[in-house]
Order: sequence, then structure tokens, then C-alpha cells
Amino acid sequence: MRVTKCRLQSLKAPLKPRTSDIHPTPYSWINTCTPGSSTGNLAGISIAIKDNISYDIAPTSCSSSMLKDYNSPYIATCVQNLIAEGAHIAGQTKMDEFGMGSQTTHLPPFYTPVHNSASPSPGEPPRSAGGSSGGSAAAVAEGSCWAALGTDTGGSVRLPASYCGVVGLKPSYGMISRRGVIAYADSLDCVGVLGRDIDTVEHVFNVISRPDEGDMTCASSSIRLTAFDISQRHLPHDGIEGLRIGIPSEIKQKVSSGLLDYLRGQGAKVEEVSLPSIKKALPAYYVLACAEASSNLGRFGGGWFGSPLERQSRIEGESGEERRKRIRTEGFGREVKKRILAGTWALSADEFNNTYLKALHLRQLLRKDYQNMFRIPHPLFSPSIPQNQAGVDIILHPTAIRTAPVLGAKEAKGSNEYQQDLLTVPASLAGLPCISVPAGKGQDGWPLGVSLTSQWGMEGLVLRLGRAVE
Ligand code: GLN
Repeated sequence: MRVTKCRLQSLKAPLKPRTSDIHPTPYSWINTCTPGSSTGNLAGISIAIKDNISYDIAPTSCSSSMLKDYNSPYIATCVQNLIAEGAHIAGQTKMDEFGMGSQTTHLPPFYTPVHNSASPSPGEPPRSAGGSSGGSAAAVAEGSCWAALGTDTGGSVRLPASYCGVVGLKPSYGMISRRGVIAYADSLDCVGVLGRDIDTVEHVFNVISRPDEGDMTCASSSIRLTAFDISQRHLPHDGIEGLRIGIPSEIKQKVSSGLLDYLRGQGAKVEEVSLPSIKKALPAYYVLACAEASSNLGRFGGGWFGSPLERQSRIEGESGEERRKRIRTEGFGREVKKRILAGTWALSADEFNNTYLKALHLRQLLRKDYQNMFRIPHPLFSPSIPQNQAGVDIILHPTAIRTAPVLGAKEAKGSNEYQQDLLTVPASLAGLPCISVPAGKGQDGWPLGVSLTSQWGMEGLVLRLGRAVE
């Protein structure tokens, strides 16, 4: 049922009044129209959704001028699942335009910026909430919703979670339906969950992690069952005793020795492992993500989405191509244009073998590195054969190379922005579940996160170890 369009509100939050208005709102739209229901697993729980996940009572803008005031004709499956369990959709959250960015700074001029609300002392210059799901992370951190949905293509749930001091889960590729989620790079895009603690994230994940015939990349019931059987067969049933944790030797940034000692004390075995291809993950990711984005974003500018910009008719004497060019020039921001150009170049006849295919090859090598390292077999390929009896169950490393950078500072700009994804893109390229859990503060007093990555389909395992780290 379609409800009358709600008024855009910019400064009020739904769950509890904002404690202070020094931070601009992380929301692009706040829902004061439709309450949650009093029954269901999420009865009355406020959950925010990222602005690239379709919801039909408010514009789904992807934080882009191209889709400003675009109203989706339907609700994304994952949001339908939340509503069916009684959740209140708190509103839609700001993001880097079309998911491209790591700071939620690639915004259209009509949105105020997003600030990280985890400031250790008042009066500090505002810091980044991470991106591209920075609005979702900041909304959870400020306490205006219980949980929030984000999307994670190369780290967009985990990096903001780490910067804002909340939990962020990127599930295995295909675990949550992407029907109704506006694509950035299809072979990498995942819907993820942010929340204050593991229990909340797990609760929401269990509601939205379902097969969906409307998304052909969404895992079927039988594959989910195989993954469950494998975890029952190969893993201790609870606790972390007997779990094997691998620390990749290639990653310079280390987690605190206190955390590792604690995990050892709980009966886990911690050892060094090697993932040689991880070093090439960042360039491979940017080639593949840009290539897919250049193709996905080709659909905008033709008028099919009905945003006011797209609906503009031809100027007198203008050809169809000229109109499309004008709308795309006006509708896309600088970062998006840069990536469309880079991706088109990587897919061009001259560059294809040398750039795109090379990146695909690197992705394959990285997947093999992970698979050689895991003790648990991959449910999709060889469920009955334990691959490596001496392998590990989980890989642990810091989520980010640093704490949240100051907005506008040099370390947050240009190629430094891309560097921030260094530790999040490997799990995305391999399609593996990965959770970022708050793990203390850096020397500057800002939150740090630890990432836990496991075999495909083993969300239960990363959540379990996450609970021990929390
Ligand atoms: N920062 C990465 C990028 O810009 C990841 C973004 C994402 O996961 N959506 O592509």
C-alpha cells in the first residue's frame, strides 16, 4: 500500500531526542508517518535504512542529484522483511553518492554533511563517520535508531562501524536479497547491518537473511542448509574454545596483544597465516568496482527513473544524445564521474586484457589464498572435503588503517581516501562474511575496530567470536 509522501525533516531523530544539535543530521529523511507494529520479532524497533535501499514512501536518492526526489514504486525485499516483523523504519540515511567513497563526503549540495558523533572531547574538529554508509553508522552511534541497514561493496559498512565505534556486519555475498537495492558493483554489493552491539546485529540479520526469488544472486534454502550442516559438523557448538584464529602476516597494522592473550585464555588458538595476494587487493578492487559501476550507472539519464532531473524534456534543437549528456553532467557528482570514466577505460578494447582481466585474475588468486587457509570447507564447492586440516576458522585484523580522519584534512582526501579501504576490500573480493567490532580506542581517543572474516556462510561464527571481542 502506498502512503502519502511524508514531509522531509532534517533535524529530529525518531528514537530519542538528539542529545545535541551540534552534529548535522545523518538522515536524509525521517519517518514520522508509519509506525512499527506491536507484533513480530522486531516489534517497535527503529531501524534506519541507507538511501540506496528502496522504500516507497520517501525518495530513494542514493545521495545523488540524479535521483533527487525519485520515489521507488516498490520496497526492497530486505525492508519488507523488517516491516513484516514489526520494525519501524526510522528514516533514510545519507551516504556517499551511489556508494562511492569512504567518508560520506561525496554528497549533493542539498545535503548537510555527516559528522562522527563519537568525539572523545567537546570542541574537537569534526571527524568523518566513514563511508559510504556513514549516515547509517552515525545514526546508530548517536542513538536515534537501534540498528541500520547499509550496503557494503568494499567496506562501506565496516569502515563506518570502526570509525563510529559500533558493530557492522557484511554478510557472505548472496546472503541478503538485493532486490530493490540500487547497484554500484553487482559482483561485490551486499546489504549489511549496523548496530550498537552484536545481539542487535544478529537479531536484524536473522530477519533479513532469507532466500528471495526476486534476486537471482540470493542464496537458496538448500545452500543455506549445507552451510548450516558444515558449521555443525566442523565447529565447536558454542564458545570459542578450540577455534583457530589466523593473523595475516602481510597486514602491518596489528590488533592489541591484550586482545589476543584474552582470546587464547578463552581456549582459542592464535597463529600467523599468509595471504600473499592481499597486497594486490586494493587496485584489483578499484578496477572491478569502477568497471561494474560504469556499466550499472549507464541506466541513468534516459528518463526511466522519473526523478525531476531525468524527466526534463529536450531543450529546443537538442538531440537525444545531447540531452542525456546534459542530464548526466548535471546529475552525477565529481567522484561518480571519475569512476565512470575509469571503469569505461578499464573495459575499453585496448585496456581490457591488461587491466580488467588482470584484476579478475588477482581476485581469483585472493579467493584461493583464503580457501587454502580455511579449515572449514566452502559450502558451495566442496562441502564434504575438509580442505586443510591444519587451517584456521577465522581471520582477525584491524578494520581500518587508522581512526576516523578529521573532515577535510589531507589524510582524508584524494588517494588517501582510497587507502582507507586497504583492509576491508579483501573480504569483499572473496565474498566472505566479515564483521567489524569495536575494540578500544586509538592514541587520539577515537574508536578502533577489529575485523573477523570467516568461510562463506559462517555468519554464526563471526558473530560468536565478535561477542567474545565485544
Ligand atoms: N570506499 C569503497 C569505494 O568507494 C567502498 C564503498 C562501498 O563499499 N560502497 O568503492
